[in-house]
Amino acid sequence: MSARAAVEAALARIEALEGELGALLDVDEDGARSRADELDREAAQGLRGPLHGLPFAVKSNLCLRGRPTTCASRVLEHYRPPYSATVVERLIAAGAIPLCATNMDEFGFGSSGESSSFGSTRNPWDLTRTPGGSSSGSAAAVAARLVPFALGSDTGGSVRQPAALCGVTGFKPSYGRVSRFGLVAFASSLDTVGVLAPSAAEIERILAVISGSDAHDATCATLGPLEPEAPRDNLRDVRIGVPREYFAEGLDARVRARVEAALDEFRQLGATLVPVELPHTRHALAAYYVVASAEASSNLSRYDGVRYGAREPGDGTLQGMIAATRTHGFGAETLRRVLLGTHVLSAGHYDAWFLRAARARRLVRDDFLRVFGLVDVLAAPTSPELAFRLGAKQDDALAMYLCDALTVPTSLAGLPAASVPCGFAEDDGVELPVGLQLIGAPLADARVLAIARAYQSATRHHERVPPLAGGTR
Ligand code: GLN
Repeated sequence: MSARAAVEAALARIEALEGELGALLDVDEDGARSRADELDREAAQGLRGPLHGLPFAVKSNLCLRGRPTTCASRVLEHYRPPYSATVVERLIAAGAIPLCATNMDEFGFGSSGESSSFGSTRNPWDLTRTPGGSSSGSAAAVAARLVPFALGSDTGGSVRQPAALCGVTGFKPSYGRVSRFGLVAFASSLDTVGVLAPSAAEIERILAVISGSDAHDATCATLGPLEPEAPRDNLRDVRIGVPREYFAEGLDARVRARVEAALDEFRQLGATLVPVELPHTRHALAAYYVVASAEASSNLSRYDGVRYGAREPGDGTLQGMIAATRTHGFGAETLRRVLLGTHVLSAGHYDAWFLRAARARRLVRDDFLRVFGLVDVLAAPTSPELAFRLGAKQDDALAMYLCDALTVPTSLAGLPAASVPCGFAEDDGVELPVGLQLIGAPLADARVLAIARAYQSATRHHERVPPLAGGTR
C-alpha cells in the first residue's frame, strides 16, 4: 500500500467513527497527505524508513510543530508549539506520518478521560463507558483501528490502564529510556512517553526508533536505541513472579479470573510461576498522589498568563490576572492537584507529606529490586476493574485514584511495564477487555516486550477488534 493510500484509509476510518468516539482533538489532513506524497516519491527512488508510510496519533501533550498541542486544557487552547517532540521527530525521520492529536485528561490528570476540557472520549467496546485515561484518545483510536499506533504518556498508568480498558497493547518504558523533550511536563520524576498498538511486536518496532539518548533531554539514559530480543516460541527459561499484593481486595472477580487464566497460559508456554511479595505496595498509591501532585503544582506554575497560552485580565492587577487566568484556564481536577501539591510542599507540611512520600517511594522501589533477583518479570492485573460507565466516578476523586493502584508502584520505581490484552469478561451483557500487566527490571524493556510477544503469538487475545470497528463477536 502506498503511504498516501494508508493516510486515506485512516482518514476514512476517522470520518466514519470519530463522531461516536471523541478520541481526537486535531486532524492534520493536509499535512499528512503532503508528507505521504513525499514519502511515496522517496519510495519510488528506493528510500524507505523502517516505519515507512505508517500514520500515527499523538497524545495532545506531545509537541507537534505548528499544530494545536493543548493537553486538553483551555489554558493551552491556542498554543501551537514551534518545535516537535524528539519522539515525533524520530518517527517522522523513520517514515511514519503524524496524522492526529488525541484527547486526554487535562495535563494527564485522570483515569477516565473525563477531565478533558473538550469532552470525554468513549470506549469503542461500549460507547457508554470510559476508555480509561489519561491517554484515552490514543487507546480508543488504536482499539477502533483509526491509526496503526499512537503515542501516549504514562506518569502513573496513563498508557497501561487505557490500553487494558480498550483491549490494546500499551507499553511504558523504563524511566529515562525514551526522550521526553517536547512532552509537556506533569511530574518530572515519573513522566514517560509510551506507545499503544494492537501488538507488542509493533511496539517493539516503534520503540527501536524512538528510544535512546537525546542531547535535548539530560534525564535520558546514555543508551542506544532498544534492540528487540530474538523471537521465542516458548518461555521455558523464564521465571514470572506473581505478586500477592496485586490480587488483593478491590480486584474485580472477573478480572482476577481472566488474569489467573492468563497465568495458566504462561505456564503452558513453559514459564515457571513464582509467588512473590511486595509488601510496601499498599503505600504506593498515597505516595504517588503526594509526589505526583507536588511536582505537578510546580510544573504548572508556568501557566500564569504571561509565559504561555491564555490570559484573563481579572481585576487588572498582576495577582488578579494570574488568579483569573488559572481559575478560568484549569479544570476541577487540575485545580485539585495544584492545591494538593502546593499543600504538601509548603513549609510546615513538607516533612510530614512530601518527605514521607519520598521515603515510601524508595521502599516500593526496593521491594521490586529485591524480587528481580529471583524472577525475570512480574505478571499482575493492569486495572482492578473493567471499563466503568462514564460519570460513575466523576464526583469521587478517591474512587478515581484507586483505578491507579496497580500501575503507580511501577511508575514510582521507574520500571518498564506493558499491558497486554488477555481475554474478555462480561458486564451487563457486554464483553469487555481485560489487561495483564508485565513488569520488568530497570532497563529490561526488551525483555518485557519479548515475553509479551511470545504470549501474543501463542494466544491471540489481542487480535479481537470491537464490533463498532468491524470486529465480530
Ligand atoms: N491516573 C493517574 C493520575 O491521574 C496517572 C496519570 C498519568 O499517568 N498521566 O495521576
